[in-house]
Amino acid sequence: MRRPGSLICLALLLCLCLPAPGHGQDILDAPGIRRMEARDNACAITFDDGPGKYTDALLDILKAHHVRATFFVLGGNAVRHRQTLLRMAAEGHEIANHSYDHPDFRHLSPERQRDEIERTEQVLRGLGITPRFFRPPYGLYDADTVRLAEQEHMVLALWSVDSQDWKYRKLSELEARVLPGKGEKAEGVFLFHDIHQTTVNAMGDVLDKLAADGCRFVTLGQWTEELSQRAAEPGAGGAGKTKQ
Ligand SMILES: [Zn+2]
Repeated sequence: MRRPGSLICLALLLCLCLPAPGHGQDILDAPGIRRMEARDNACAITFDDGPGKYTDALLDILKAHHVRATFFVLGGNAVRHRQTLLRMAAEGHEIANHSYDHPDFRHLSPERQRDEIERTEQVLRGLGITPRFFRPPYGLYDADTVRLAEQEHMVLALWSVDSQDWKYRKLSELEARVLPGKGEKAEGVFLFHDIHQTTVNAMGDVLDKLAADGCRFVTLGQWTEELSQRAAEPGAGGAGKTKQ
């Protein structure tokens, strides 16, 4: 009589203690990105908060520079700029989820967080786009955000180089923040915003200088794929994503 009960207890214990396969709750945050900086100066250029009225001009610049970027779009803006979004996808850029209305997720209930993520997901899927990454607005999140991104099969991704282009609207200020200093390598995940005209105007020059400093431009998806290939190489150190 006691045996079935013991087995049930053991099964329950295992369920509670062991994470389900594929549920690693991975976060790509700045310390994690810096720990696993890709070899060969891989630079993932990311743009948040669009698409907006300057995004098409940015796409022209990216095309002229043969750079594929990752766009973390807002669902609300995606609805207003569907054609731009379709062009982005057609030109080989990666499109990711940045919420619907850009709220601070730490102040939202889990239900409202889910709504923000899923509404954007629906807009993107309606256009044939399946986002692999979620970036919470302001880079701020809580345990619910991590869980929800994982449930939607997205990696929560931040950045390692912040242009602060929302604050500094001058080319020299942007370049001071994103170009490598003496003895530093040009690499990492770069954060810009395509809703600012000053950023779009500066981007041609910024990309030229990053390329001159050795940047090899990749999308965030390519960046993480290169890292996982490296991790699978014999003798790899195994530096991986941040676990939280
Ligand atoms: Zn944002």
